Amino acid sequence: MKRAAQVETLRRVVSTRLPTRWGTFQTIGFERKLSNGSARVETALAIVMGDVTQGTPLLRIHSQCFTSEVLGSLRCDCREQLEIAMSAIAEEGRGLVIYEHQEGRGIGLMAKLRAYALQDKGFDTVEANHALGFASDYRDFTLPAAILRDFGISRVRLLSNNPQKARVLSDAGIEVVAQVPCEATPNEHSLGYLRTKKEKLGHALTLKHLVLFRVISWIVGLLQEEHDPLNHTNKHEITFWTNKRKKITKRLRSSSSLRVSRMQFKSCEADA
Ligand SMILES: [Zn+2]
Repeated sequence: MKRAAQVETLRRVVSTRLPTRWGTFQTIGFERKLSNGSARVETALAIVMGDVTQGTPLLRIHSQCFTSEVLGSLRCDCREQLEIAMSAIAEEGRGLVIYEHQEGRGIGLMAKLRAYALQDKGFDTVEANHALGFASDYRDFTLPAAILRDFGISRVRLLSNNPQKARVLSDAGIEVVAQVPCEATPNEHSLGYLRTKKEKLGHALTLKHLVLFRVISWIVGLLQEEHDPLNHTNKHEITFWTNKRKKITKRLRSSSSLRVSRMQFKSCEADA
């Protein structure tokens, strides 16, 4: 968690319609000035559907992930989680996503890429953050809590697997009536990362598709091996036929060039 900063006023900067593939949301831009030695401005979006001041709306607190949301990276589950949340809210016709600009659990894009480089060498996501001098999770969730208060929302159903988010909201006086799972299907690139989130950060992940994923990978691997033209079974056969084709091509070329030279000889004979 970040060091507590002296907080100044939260301000609504803009509000505009946002048609999406899940439906039309109202997007409200917020900013908050912080001063802890040097003045800093935090920004976040509230992406809202329906009347969220009534009942207990669905809420997703989502941290920006440029790599998955823009570049389509498969190293994490962020993009899928955002899509699950938008879809669930649209299905109910009511709820909100608070989208924070906290790339890489708050460490920023460059540091996140440096953490990825360490993970390429065998560190897990938590070890990589520590090696770079950051906490496992460098975010605080006080801005979403302030935004919820601004809306007059005091009770939510939280779309998250992260128990830390529920704790921070409760501490800020927002009652988390239910924590609704927001679990993406793992892939071969995200599996280690998700396992670390479950085991070291306590995220409520079932990884229930893991067994199915492994079985499918195993079957796909078998099928690829069977149809791989360079596997051991076919390798000698292919070499044999490649050599055979080369010999035939060579023979055809030499016979056709002989035929051409004979024709040229005849034609020279006729000219003479
Ligand atoms: Zn991500």
